[in-house]
Amino acid sequence: MGKLDGRVVVVTGAARGQGEQEARLFAAEGARVVLADVLDDQGEALAKELGEESARYVRLDVSQEDDWTRAVAVAKEAFGKIDGLVNNAGILRFNELVNTPLAEFQQIVQVNQVGAFLGIRTVAPEIEAAGGGTIVNTASYTALTGMAYVGAYAATKHAILGLTRVAAMELAAKGIRVNAVCPGAIDTAMSNPAPLGPPADPEAAAAGIAALYKKLVPLGRIGKPAEVAALALFLTSDDSSYITGQPFVVDGGWLAGVSAF
Ligand code: NAD
Repeated sequence: MGKLDGRVVVVTGAARGQGEQEARLFAAEGARVVLADVLDDQGEALAKELGEESARYVRLDVSQEDDWTRAVAVAKEAFGKIDGLVNNAGILRFNELVNTPLAEFQQIVQVNQVGAFLGIRTVAPEIEAAGGGTIVNTASYTALTGMAYVGAYAATKHAILGLTRVAAMELAAKGIRVNAVCPGAIDTAMSNPAPLGPPADPEAAAAGIAALYKKLVPLGRIGKPAEVAALALFLTSDDSSYITGQPFVVDGGWLAGVSAF
């Protein structure tokens, strides 16, 4: 028996990275999953691989109200109801605050923060109609502490925790639990940006990155997207039945403190 048998869960940003691993794990645990993303080819391919019984892909730009309405319609048409949501889609830009163009700041807010708000607002009534369920929002290590050069991103991730707490309080009586995952450094495209093209010496670059995480993170390595998916599964399944309104850090101990040595 799977931990999510009978459940129907929408996962945003599901075409790759953490969202992909969440979709794979949820399907393996018996859920039917609606994969939502703007990367159509990758999303379609994953849905095909998981099979029509278990998965559908829908194009959903989380910042667009109409896209949410359409995604809900696709999910209900395919699987009859929705009783879970993972707000996972997100974008990251590196910039010094004083050099961040307004348009860049607003774009990050629009995807990370407005996207999660629209997801909660659109899907919560569906979850209530299905008899209750769960929402998992994707915050970050940077929801709980600062990180230089990601000001806009960190602001949106702090905001996600505010949204999570308020949504948990307002939706509890409707049978909906709302929690947040706060990943540290996770090995996905987001944490491996290549704006300058491939490094001249890929082996040296990889060794440099490994040494950096060994120093920064008590567990000595970058996290795997599957390790975040395991936490999202816990928060979506009945294993977390008495938990709502909370942030959960999955960061290899990074946030535990600093070491002088
Ligand atoms: P990723 O870039 O591999 O995945 C993000 C996904 O979101 C992609 O599939 C992308 O197409 C999708 N997406 C982007 N904009 C979208 C939009 N407007 N509408 C719908 N989908 C959109 O990165 P990831 O690491 O898998 O990121 C997943 C989540 O985890 C994000 O919210 C990110 O902020 C958060 N996070 C990542 C890390 C990390 O180190 N990778 C750390 C903390 C938090």
